[in-house]
This record gives sequence, structure tokens and C-alpha cells, in this order.
Amino acid sequence: MTAAKPFVIDCHGHYTTAPPAHDAWREAQKAAFKAGTAAPAYPAISDDDIRATIEANQLRLIRERGADHTIFSPRASTMAPHFGDQAVAQVWAMACNDLIARVCGLYPETFTGVCMLPQSPAADLTASIAELRRCVGMGFVGCNLNPDPGGGHFAHPPLTDSYWFPIYEAMCELDVPAMIHVSGSCNAALHATGAYYIAADTVAFMQLLEGDLFARFPGLRFIIPHGGGAVPYHWGRYRGLADMLKKPALDGHLMNNVWFDTCVYHQPGVNLLAEVIASKNILFGSEMVGAVRGIDPTTGQYFDDTKRYVDALPIDDTTRASIFSGNARTVFPRLDAKLKGMGL
Ligand SMILES: [Zn+2]
Repeated sequence: MTAAKPFVIDCHGHYTTAPPAHDAWREAQKAAFKAGTAAPAYPAISDDDIRATIEANQLRLIRERGADHTIFSPRASTMAPHFGDQAVAQVWAMACNDLIARVCGLYPETFTGVCMLPQSPAADLTASIAELRRCVGMGFVGCNLNPDPGGGHFAHPPLTDSYWFPIYEAMCELDVPAMIHVSGSCNAALHATGAYYIAADTVAFMQLLEGDLFARFPGLRFIIPHGGGAVPYHWGRYRGLADMLKKPALDGHLMNNVWFDTCVYHQPGVNLLAEVIASKNILFGSEMVGAVRGIDPTTGQYFDDTKRYVDALPIDDTTRASIFSGNARTVFPRLDAKLKGMGL
């Protein structure tokens, strides 16, 4: 460590510690839908309630671990688009995104919002596009796009299907990327964070490989989280499949439009990611406070303290700075503009 400390943007944070009244209202909304009655009014949540949940958790960890800014979205596992209908999803997404907007308003120097979308299994993407536009109007810089709104049965068409094109057109127009991110699993065979998330990341990459989406949408940008699922570990398989399927080489076919984050939670995994995947395609992320909250007994450090893994990579400081923030500023131009406006 010789150079000045690089600016560190965590591209993957969730509000997993939202005030209990928010989650209690969701349960009331679900109960009302099941009973065929109107949901109660959304509860009053004070700024102090929000500050208490952020300062004891995300903000404390960001400071302890040395990050500077977090791209922040609603809790992924409770997006649960499979529950209810389009109207239920829309009200829930707006409540979740409004809470993120309040966090970002209280701590603009530390948090910038990414929205969840009111996807619903039987719906088209009209409401999702409207919510994306509303959130970008509030200063959000991207969205989480769920490739499987049914919650673990993969019944939706692949991400290369024209079903998805309307939201891609909106994303390109607004110049915002999407993190491909599923939610809770309602398939008992798929553990949410251990199986479903990682499977969906891998499935999404292969869908993109089989198609030709970025020839149609050259400005479209996706982050595949959790280190890209199984993809970097099996990079030779995917390069070989591209060859067999008569697709262009992956660097031109996908890797001008796809990024992987560093949420793999151990040093050898991050070493492999950085060795296999071009550094320009890697974004620093921690997914905290998130999927794995404990301490690794072999290191004595928290599994999701991912900055220390990137700090330990045998790469030069310029490359490390691009992983820590330069690449994120390219993928999220609206964040870059915001930070520049703050003199950062
Ligand atoms: Zn996540």
C-alpha cells in the first residue's frame, strides 16, 4: 500500500435493516390481499428511526471497513414479486424505494439509490418502467432487475427475449444499468442465497451468451452479482460454448456490457475472479449487511468484509482503483455525475 487510499464504491448494498414498522406493514399488506381487503395506511417512520438502523449497521460497517460510498437498494429477499398481483407489487416497490430515497437524502455523501421494480409474474413491464422513471427522478442511478419474478421456477422467458425489451429501452434512454438480482425462493429445492441466487446469476449469463442482446442494445449494462455466480470458475466452459454456438468471443459478445461484483466471500475466490475476468469488468461489492454475516474461523474476519480481499490482490494500484471505483463510475454515469458534483 503505497499510493493514496483509493475512493471505494460498494456497488451492492441492501437495506436489510429497515425499520420494523416497514416490514410489519408488508405483512399487513399481504394479509389484506389474502383477505380481499384494503391494505392499511403505510406507517409513519421518522428520520431518527432510519438513522438508528443505518448508523448502527451499514454506516458503521462502511466506516470500519474503509468504503466511501454505497449503491443502496431495498432488501432483495423480500422483494418477493411472486406474491399478490401487479397492484400489490407496485405499492410495495414504491414503499421500499421511498425508504431508500430517504436514506440517500439523509446521507447523500454515503448512499445513492438503486430501485427495485414492481415486477409481477403475470404482468408486463409497464409498471416497472414507470417506477424506474419515478426513481431516477428521485436521484436513483440504476435498478435491480429480477429475471425470475416467479421466485424459483424460472418460468419467464430468457433475458434476451422481446418480453424484456421495453425496460431495456427505458434503461438505455435513462442511461442506467441493472443488477440482475432474484428475490426469495418459493421453491423448496432452492435455498435463496446459497442456491437460487448463484444459480440465477449463472443462468442469466448463459442466456446472454446464447442470444445477441447487446448487438440490439449496445448501451445496455448489466451487473451479475455474487461474483458472477459460477461463471468465472467455469470460464473455459463458457468460452468453449460461445465457440460451439458460433457466437463471437466473449470479450466482444458480452464483456462490453456485463460486470461481476466481488461478493464471493473468500480470498481464493476473489483471486480467481481477478485472474480470469478482465479487471475492467469487476466492480467492488460487499452485499452487506447481507447474505453471510458471520466470521470466517480460518481468518478471524467477517466473510463479507470483501474490501480486504481486493486489498490483498496482487495487482497494481491503478487496477485496484478501477475495481474499487473507476469501473463503477463508468457503469453508473449518474453516480459519477453526482460524485463529481460533490467534488469527489
Ligand atoms: Zn444482493
